[in-house]
Amino acid sequence: MAGALDPSLLDQPVTALPGAGPVTAARLAERGLESVRDLLAFLPLGYEDFRTLFPLSALAGLPEGQAVVVRAPVRRVRPFFRRLLDVYLEQDGVPMRARWFRPNAGMLKTYAKGNFVALAGSLRRAKDGSVELIHPRNVTTLMAAQEASGTPSGLGLQPRYPTVEKVPGRVVEKLVAAAVDRAAGLVPDVLPQGVARRFGFPSIAESLRRVHQPEASLSDDKLAELVAGQAPAQRRLVFEDLFVVQVGLALERGRVRRAAGWRCDVDGEQVLASARAALPFVLTPGQERAIRILFADLTGATPMQRLLHGDVGSGKTAVAFAAALLIARAGRQSLLMAPTEVLAEQHGRTLAVWGGKAGLRVGVLHAGLAAQERRRVLAAAASGATNLLVGTHALLEGGLRVPRLALAIVDEQHRFGVRQRAALRRAGGWIPDKKTDMVPHLLVLSATPIPRSLALTAYGDLDLVTLDESPPGRQVVATSLCVGEATRGEALAAVKAAVAAGGQGFVVCPAIVEQKQGRRASVLSRFRELRLLLAPARVGLLHGQMPSNEQQEVVAAFRTGKLDVLIATTVLEVGVDVPHASIILIEDAERFGLAQLHQLRGRVGRAGQASSCYLLTGAQDPETLERLEFVAATSDGFRIAEEDLRRRGPGEIYGERQTGVVGLWMRDPAGVASLVERARQEAEALLAEDPALASPEHAALGQAVETRWLRRRPIAEEAG
Ligand code: ADP
Ligand code: MG
Repeated sequence: MAGALDPSLLDQPVTALPGAGPVTAARLAERGLESVRDLLAFLPLGYEDFRTLFPLSALAGLPEGQAVVVRAPVRRVRPFFRRLLDVYLEQDGVPMRARWFRPNAGMLKTYAKGNFVALAGSLRRAKDGSVELIHPRNVTTLMAAQEASGTPSGLGLQPRYPTVEKVPGRVVEKLVAAAVDRAAGLVPDVLPQGVARRFGFPSIAESLRRVHQPEASLSDDKLAELVAGQAPAQRRLVFEDLFVVQVGLALERGRVRRAAGWRCDVDGEQVLASARAALPFVLTPGQERAIRILFADLTGATPMQRLLHGDVGSGKTAVAFAAALLIARAGRQSLLMAPTEVLAEQHGRTLAVWGGKAGLRVGVLHAGLAAQERRRVLAAAASGATNLLVGTHALLEGGLRVPRLALAIVDEQHRFGVRQRAALRRAGGWIPDKKTDMVPHLLVLSATPIPRSLALTAYGDLDLVTLDESPPGRQVVATSLCVGEATRGEALAAVKAAVAAGGQGFVVCPAIVEQKQGRRASVLSRFRELRLLLAPARVGLLHGQMPSNEQQEVVAAFRTGKLDVLIATTVLEVGVDVPHASIILIEDAERFGLAQLHQLRGRVGRAGQASSCYLLTGAQDPETLERLEFVAATSDGFRIAEEDLRRRGPGEIYGERQTGVVGLWMRDPAGVASLVERARQEAEALLAEDPALASPEHAALGQAVETRWLRRRPIAEEAG
């Protein structure tokens, strides 16, 4: 279909397409689908093969799981209340059962006796040997509409999209199809032609069409390739994204390599002595060693590019503090970016206390500030009065000026993308100084180790320093796995006992509100329930969708002992530091990644007290239980993170969440690692030829690097 060839259509809201009203648009927006471009990037998870129309008599000879379309009259209908609906079709005396769970009332009309219906689904063999379709899709009208597609069924290959809460699959399909019809041809080709040719990639428009609307005439081999996520069209989409990242990284690398650092002309030993005097604890030898390494970088001639690795609770903040102190002593400024407001506030408070004793002035900036406070913070940063500005990704937004920026610190790097890392260095209006060409130093803090294959590419520009010991006196958090509802009581009793003994604890839930079917523990329902069950303990609620000031108040109340138990989502995961807390319960533990569980567990026992963690799960399958047992039995965060990456693949490395594409990554980590490597090689080769992307052929690429590389929003918290 030829819509108006208006390139701006790509950036128009989804309501520009037929079939999307404001309500649907709002629901799609919640899933990150706001523009027509977003719909194009919403890739199918798989495909249904609806091409062959089978007579019912042929079904008995087909293998289980075969995708079929059948078309026959309804012979008999058996509703079982609202629980179940069995519909029997019959053709030439051969019957077939179709079964739906939780049918709605309208279905009785659709499947009234005598109606001629077409159903598509995958074949299942019932216990008695007869064949059935479970939850087949009604394709009666679809078939009538597509009759001309040239396949025996009149239907083609049907893409299967990820579910969007409260938007019927059919609506999503229609909207994506409309986006492809009208706008796929408008997407500029970002990959240089030479690269596309070398890899045998189709154009971007063609790739989008093939992925969203595969031809009905596809051979079995090609279909298998598509299902495995290995078709050239799919590889191109993945590759293009990797390539843009790699070009961005290579540009950055080149810039940094050629640049000079802010050579801080101060005495490191003196700064270290002030840091020691300001901190409320004695630095471990590991922290001292890390600080000395950073100081050597910061007083050297080239911009620092460091990754500071250290397990949860290993004391990375104190190391970052020392670095910021050195920068301040040199009369310059630092930025520290954290992934959540709660964490930014906490860092702001801790660092201000330490800084107060050493003459380091600290500011805090995030979206939750009142307008007046925000103005004050911005003014103090702009005047140079603030030595260290701590914030969330609000630091990356316009309006901020940090004229003497010399050090950018990213905390919990795994929650950001590589792009934000580069953006932070450029934050605060920092522009490369034409005369001196000075570039701010960069320090990245992370508790997640990176597999070698990807370290090369995603972090190839960073030098590593590791904190491999914990502060003295830390005990292992005793972790127990509690399977099934019956064990919850035991875990709750442990919380009550801990509170009765004067301790504090957390209960973590994966979701804010009840999910489908209401089986998942939501933080709201748990809060209501536990307030009663845990009485007289004082129970507070914390999640990322509460207004910022309420979040701060709850954390403050917990910190000062006015609350005994916090019921929270994963806002807790990153960095929340209340040393007194000693017990944590994690509900639906199977829903969290291994490294995430370890991070959560790291919230307790921080003052060296004995502490415990209960992983609750209703899961039954051995794989899941084995995973959870691994966390329970292992206290070494590095081993856990490695295991996590081994199981989940490297998609998380980039901290990007791209539906579809990431899904493909997950299935083939090794393949992706090699694709990353090739993207890096191509990027380097291209920049060797055209270092500033000045040739007209590279204009679209340059623009993609600008917008995608710098504009991407950081990842919000998992479940809020
Ligand atoms: P992470 O590496 O996870 O960011 P933090 O910097 O938050 O760890 O430190 C964890 C806890 O350990 C904090 O309460 C901090 O005050 C404390 N801590 C850090 N270094 C030391 C030390 N050398 N001795 C005692 N406690 C320390
Ligand atoms: Mg930390």
